[in-house]
Amino acid sequence: MNAEQFRRAGYQAIDRICDYHVTLRDRPVLSQVEPGYLRKALPSSAPTEGEDFQLIADDYQKYIIPGLTHWQHPSFFAYFPTSSTFEGILAELYTSSTSNPGFNWSVSPACTELEAVVMDWIAQLLGLDQSFYNISEVGGGVIQPSASESALVATVAARARYIHEHPQVAMENLVLYTTTQTHSLGKKAGLILGLKVRALGVTAQDDFALRGDTLKVALEEDMNAGFHPFILIGTVGTTSSGAVDRLDEIADVAKHYPFLWLHVDAAWAGVAFVCPEYREAYQLPAINSYVDSFCTSFYKWGLIQFDGSCLWVRHRKHLTDALDVTPEFLRTRHGNAGTAIDYRNWQLGLGKRFRSLKFWFVLRARGVKGLQKYISDGIKLNTKFAQSIYESELFSVVTKPSLAMTVFRLAPKSSTQLSTPELNILNRAFYARLAARNDIALTQTDLNGVFCIRMVIGAEQTLESDVDRALALMKSEADGVVNEMRG
Ligand code: PLP
Repeated sequence: MNAEQFRRAGYQAIDRICDYHVTLRDRPVLSQVEPGYLRKALPSSAPTEGEDFQLIADDYQKYIIPGLTHWQHPSFFAYFPTSSTFEGILAELYTSSTSNPGFNWSVSPACTELEAVVMDWIAQLLGLDQSFYNISEVGGGVIQPSASESALVATVAARARYIHEHPQVAMENLVLYTTTQTHSLGKKAGLILGLKVRALGVTAQDDFALRGDTLKVALEEDMNAGFHPFILIGTVGTTSSGAVDRLDEIADVAKHYPFLWLHVDAAWAGVAFVCPEYREAYQLPAINSYVDSFCTSFYKWGLIQFDGSCLWVRHRKHLTDALDVTPEFLRTRHGNAGTAIDYRNWQLGLGKRFRSLKFWFVLRARGVKGLQKYISDGIKLNTKFAQSIYESELFSVVTKPSLAMTVFRLAPKSSTQLSTPELNILNRAFYARLAARNDIALTQTDLNGVFCIRMVIGAEQTLESDVDRALALMKSEADGVVNEMRG
C-alpha cells in the first residue's frame, strides 16, 4: 500500500469506525459465534500473493466484528468497563504511525518526556501526594500495560528491597500477602516469582475489606513460624464487590513492620479520585501518607483506550535497583549521567508502547471537568439502580454498593425462608437466563459462598433509560425463574 492508497483506505476506515460507534446501541452486546467459527471461515494459510486491501477491510467487517463483544455498548454492565474515545483512537493511529519502542530517553525523547509529564498530570488530578510525582525525582509514575504487570513490578521491587535489607533470608521463606478478595493478579505474581502467597481473610460484616487487626495477627503468626512477609497487595475497589481495604488501619499496623511494602491495586476504583468527594471514603489519605506503590488503570474507567495502567512508586530507586540491566548496547550519555528517565528500568519488558499520547490527547480534549462528569454520571446512574434494588420485592443488595457497581441477587421477599444454598441455585438459574441473552452483559461472582450478580456502569453511551431497561429485563427474567421454580 502506498501513501495515496493509505489515504483512501484511511478515510474509509474512519467512516466505518464512526458508523460502528453510532450504531452500537442497535447491535447485540455479546457475540453469538461458536468456538472455531473463524477457523472455519478463514483459509488455512496466509496468502502467497498480497491481496487487495479493500478485500481485507471488508473481511474485517464480515468475519471479525461478529466475533466481538461490544464493550462500549450502552448495555454492557459486565466485568469493569473499558473505554474508547475518538480522541484516543486518533492517538493510537498516530502512535502506530511512528512505531516506537521508547525504552530509553534517547531512543525517542518525546515518548519518555510525555509519559513523565502526563503521569504527573494524572497524579495531580487524583490528588496523589507530591512524593509520587516524576518531578520529585525521587518517586515517580510509569504507564504499565496492565494492573497485573503493575503488581508484578511492585512485587519484584519489594522483593529486591527486602533481600537487600535481609541478605540472609532464603527466598522460599518470603511471603506475599493478598486477601481472599484480591484480584488473581496477587496469586499470579506469586506463581511467576515462585513466592508463597497467603490470602488474608475478610468478612461480609466488614464489607469484604481487610482490617488492620487481621494483618497484625498474620504478620505475627508468620514471623513466629520463620516466614518473611514482605509485601501486601491491598485493594481499593475489589473485582467482586468494589470493597475497599482499610488502608488507614493497615498503615497504622504496617508502621511497626517497616519492611512490609504496601502496594495498592485500585485498577478500577482509583480513577474515581478525580472527583475529590470520593477521596476520603476510598482511602486516599492513607495512600498518600503511607503506601509504597499505587496503581489505577485508566484503560478501565478513565476514558483511555485499552491498554494503560498507571503505577506510581514513592521511591523510583526501588524499581531501578530491581530492574536495571544495562548491557553496553543500551548505554547512553544521559542514562549514564542519570539526567533522564530510562523507562525500560521501571518495567518488565525492554520496549514500551507510546501509551502516553492517548492520555495526553484525552486529558486535553476532555479536561478535568469532562473526566469528572463522566465518572460522576456513572456513579449517579448506579446510585439510582441500587436504590431500585433496595426497594425491590424481588432483589436484594448483597454488599454495600461501591461507586458505579452494585452486587445483588434474586431474593424474593416472599421467599425469606430460602437457605443460602437454595438461593444460590435460584440465582444460578436467574443468571443463566441473563447470560443467554445477547442484549445485556452482566457478570456473576461469589462472595463467601453467596452467588451474586455484578452490575457495573461505565460505558460512555449508557443512559438512564438503558439502566431502566436493564432493570425491567432483570425483573422479567427473575419472574420467569421464580415461576419456573414454583411450577
Ligand atoms: N485489579 C482489579 C481490582 C481488577 O478488577 C482487575 C480486572 O478487572 C485487575 C486488577 C486486572 O487488570 P489487568 O487486566 O489490567 O491486569
